[in-house]
Amino acid sequence: MKLIAIYPGSFDPITNGHIDILNRALKLFDKIIVLVADNPAKKSTFTTEERKAMIRESLNGNPHIEVDSTLGLTVHYAEKVGAHALIRGLRAATDFEYEFQINSANRFINPDVESVFFMAKHKFMFVSSSTIKEMVSGGVDVSSLVPEPVLKRLKNLK
Ligand code: ADP
Repeated sequence: MKLIAIYPGSFDPITNGHIDILNRALKLFDKIIVLVADNPAKKSTFTTEERKAMIRESLNGNPHIEVDSTLGLTVHYAEKVGAHALIRGLRAATDFEYEFQINSANRFINPDVESVFFMAKHKFMFVSSSTIKEMVSGGVDVSSLVPEPVLKRLKNLK
């Protein structure tokens, strides 16, 4: 049986912290779908199409990874594609509370879709999409924290 997982998130934009989680999850799953939240109610810096393009370009055509977006609930998307698990990352205790709540809601919707949590690598503990954008606007070099296609677009934001 091929094990499929969904890695849902805003990815506004994708960072090396996200990519590290993806690479580690690929040791456990045959296929991972990176699912960009297309949430019109949440203001994002990059459009859904831009966020997807940056993910695709950053993953260099890895055949085990697909990129998609959804307007709906992650669990419903997982049911539609027959995914076995959701992947999420944990950086700090504050992430835990949020993730615990989302996980409870997801289990309420469908208890058969399991969530798998990966602890952030030490060097990416402080990395979030919003921190990256703040650092860029303050002139900080973030080239070790985001992939090249993201760096290119972040420079255009200034
Ligand atoms: P969301 O808005 O759904 O939290 P994000 O794009 O911010 O979307 O993050 C997607 C997932 O990746 C979340 O589970 C988040 O905790 C995790 N994540 C984000 N940055 C890192 C990082 N540097 N290391 C590990 N996990 C991370």
